[in-house]
Amino acid sequence: MTDFTVLKNLQPQPELVRENIKKDPGFGQYFTDHMAHIRYTIGDGWQGHEVRPYGPLLLDPAAAVLHYAQEIFEGLKAYRHADGSVWTFRPERNAARINKSAERLALPQLSEEDFIDSLKHLVSLDQAWVPTPESDADESSLYLRPFMIATERFLGVRASHEVDYYVIASPAGPYFSGGIEPVSIWLSPKLKRAGAGGTGFAKCGGNYASSLVATNEAAAKGCQQVLFTDSVENKYIDELGGMNLMLVTKSGKLLTPALSDSILDGVTRRSLLELAPQLGLEAEERQISIEEWREGAASGEIVEAFACGTAAVITPISKLVSEDFTIDHGEEAGEKTMELRKTLLGIQYGRVEDKNNWLV
Ligand code: PMP
Repeated sequence: MTDFTVLKNLQPQPELVRENIKKDPGFGQYFTDHMAHIRYTIGDGWQGHEVRPYGPLLLDPAAAVLHYAQEIFEGLKAYRHADGSVWTFRPERNAARINKSAERLALPQLSEEDFIDSLKHLVSLDQAWVPTPESDADESSLYLRPFMIATERFLGVRASHEVDYYVIASPAGPYFSGGIEPVSIWLSPKLKRAGAGGTGFAKCGGNYASSLVATNEAAAKGCQQVLFTDSVENKYIDELGGMNLMLVTKSGKLLTPALSDSILDGVTRRSLLELAPQLGLEAEERQISIEEWREGAASGEIVEAFACGTAAVITPISKLVSEDFTIDHGEEAGEKTMELRKTLLGIQYGRVEDKNNWLV
């Protein structure tokens, strides 16, 4: 494992405060005592691997990230198993993805070893922050947020010569505190989060900034999430603002849009496609039009719809609402949806055998 210099936080949160936070952490509000950091310069590459006290960054007001959004991030979780051990899920996929994002945003490549070791060092130092689930329904975890920002003090528009990589960690409670609740999604009629040749496949902040207005629009229509279609023909399903979309057919198919330059290669998506055969489902990745979904739901061929991603694992979709029509899958979560959900969570929390060696 790469050496990281450890600068211990001399004023960690008192144990009582930490334990109280872990009882009801919500999402993304509280942070652990430390953060991992590696600095890049064009001359020296990645140097100065360290874990240091969590705290504000000192950024020059002319730092490139603040002006030109040269920034990428990742999101994954650490899960505590019943024997007390702590595991991440397929972090090498996040390492590969951050490098795909880095390539698109003209940021430097980070080795898989540096990426995974930064997580290991931080999680092992802050392991007391990983919640202990009280039951199988308690989906609490430690959310890990690696990110890379352009920090050179320079207002010229070009790739930054100085970059900082950090990992911060935040205890996360169950996404659904009162049991699984299907969500309704709004079909954004005009706004797009990504276009052909753009950055949709990369996990860069700008994609999320550009999705916020559409999410507000969804909320105004009484929906919790927004669905984006392709930017060329405005008819094929891309994905949601922060999750991939999947459909289940009566004939036993697990359907999802094929990856493109406007869809994020979700680790949950990929894992469900790989698990599908074990649950008697045939995985199929291809273009899916809204019309196909609409007709399939009406004819009874498309029986379940759900969104998937690290935060909520699988979120059943009750309906798709558009300006002209509604596709209704009912308020009950689908059978296959829940089976997939249970299997994936079982692996992540160590209750189901990890046949694919996904846990690290
Ligand atoms: N699509 C988008 C746009 C996302 O932000 C996310 C969350 N990272 C996903 C899909 C799901 O990816 P994952 O399963 O790796 O969390």
